[in-house]
This record gives sequence, C-alpha cells and structure tokens, in this order.
Amino acid sequence: MEMIYRPNCCICNCKEKSILFSSDFVNPVIWNFLDSYYCHRIDKDILLDQRYEVAKCKKCGFIWQTYILDEQGMKQLYDEWISKEHSLHKKSKAGIDFYFGYAKDVGTISILLKKNPYQIRVLDYGMGWGYWCMMAQAFGYNVHGMELSINRQQFAKVHGINVISNISDLPEPVDYINCDQVMEHIPDPFVSLKEITRFLMPGGIIKITVPDGKRIEKQITSTHWIPAKNAIHPLEHINCFTHKSLVAFAAKADLFPITRPIVSSYKCNILIMFKNIIAKYYLRYFSTSIYFRIIE
Ligand SMILES: [Zn+2]
Repeated sequence: MEMIYRPNCCICNCKEKSILFSSDFVNPVIWNFLDSYYCHRIDKDILLDQRYEVAKCKKCGFIWQTYILDEQGMKQLYDEWISKEHSLHKKSKAGIDFYFGYAKDVGTISILLKKNPYQIRVLDYGMGWGYWCMMAQAFGYNVHGMELSINRQQFAKVHGINVISNISDLPEPVDYINCDQVMEHIPDPFVSLKEITRFLMPGGIIKITVPDGKRIEKQITSTHWIPAKNAIHPLEHINCFTHKSLVAFAAKADLFPITRPIVSSYKCNILIMFKNIIAKYYLRYFSTSIYFRIIE
C-alpha cells in the first residue's frame, strides 16, 4: 500500500504551510493508539516507513494530515479495521437522546425551508447505517441516502431507504443535504463539496457537521501530546476544521451560513429554553455544525 501525499491546503490550495507534527506511524506514541483503537486489526508492516504529518496552512489556517491512505487503504480502514458491529451497535443501542436529537434535526429542515415535509427532498450524504434517513422518512420527507459501504447500504435498504452509491444517481436535485461527520474523512473535501452542491436546489440548505479542531494546534504542538479520537485522529480525521475554516471552505462553494431557528425540545423547562437560545447563536458563530444556504 502506498500513501497519498497532499502537499497543498485542501481549502485554498496554498503551498505555504507549517508542520505542526511529524513522526513515523510506527512511533510508539502513534502506533500504540492505532493498535489499541482498532483492536489489533492493523498489520504494523503496512505502516512501516509511512509518516503521520499534520500541517497548517499559512494563508487560511486549515489543518490537515499530509499523508493519507490510498483508495485500497481507505477501503481496508472502513471495511476491516473499523468494527462494523461496534459501529452499528452505537446507533442501534443508542439512548433516547440520540433519537430525540435526530427528530429535532429533521424537524428543523421544514422550519428552515418554510415548506411541509412532503414538499421537501433531502439527501443524507454519507448516511452510514441510515438512521438519520429513517427518521427523516418517518417525518414524511422524500429521502435519499448516499453511502459507499456495501454492508451499510444493504442495512439501510432493508429498512426502506432509497440508497445511492454515487451522487449522480440522484433522480433530481434536493432541497436539503445532511453532511454529518463526512468532510473530515475524505481525501479532497472541496472537490466533494462542489460536487454535492451541484445537486442542491437554488436557495437549498446544507448542514455540515465536523469535529471541532479549535484546540488541536495547541494540543499537537505540546511536548506531551498523544493521539486521541478527536479532530485529528490519525488515518481517519484527515481534515481538521475550526468554525472559521469551515465557513471559509463553504464560502468557496457559494455557501453562506444561516442561523438555526429555535426548535422546542422534548424536555422543556426554563433552563432548557435558555440553552436553546444560547445554542442558536453558538452554532452560527462558534461551532463546526453549521447550516449554509446556497446562493439562489
Ligand atoms: Zn489554506
């Protein structure tokens, strides 16, 4: 397996970068994390002479892993090294807050677009096992889910979801795209974003959610840093966004942030109402979970 080198910033294509961290993947600091996290499923020889390197763009501040797995390696990562059972278990055995969260999320779409669910076409880009799609379908939206993993596709199909494996298989453009925990994983996020927004109706909305990398630079440049399941997780989270870089990234695809409305929660008291009001502005101005509207 060869690794792919990404020398330039994935957002602005700038060549000028600072190296925040660089080490062999088999350095015990990195390897012990990978070996333990993936339950000894990675053959160490595959990563011999390969580098875990984290760079920061001098122009826009974007942080990324310069060396990433090639197509075959990515397939191995998502099909073999990540436990399917564990991944499905996280969704199927989730607590009620997880499902209420999805209900609130899909309810928000109708409010934002000022249309009823039956009038709205949605796409879940990188739908995983299809749980978000199932919730959206239960609300009455016209739903498609895109997913590359065959196991996850089959699971979603059995649960009644319209599954596509390529965005060009969408029968018509959609009003809303959910892009939850996807952009941090893909080799060329800007190319993918441009591609999916071609299928967004004028004035349509995309919600992009990624891990928040605002503390990563400080952490990774400290002498005691060790990898963790965070915004720069070795091999997996190859693109690391902050609120600022996510907004800049989206703007390049003609997407502009909008404020989420306050949606009432299933639990309601004064404290939760107050938290909802804070969340409305926190999401828009500080978080890495942002609603964007495309130019009409
Ligand atoms: Zn840049």
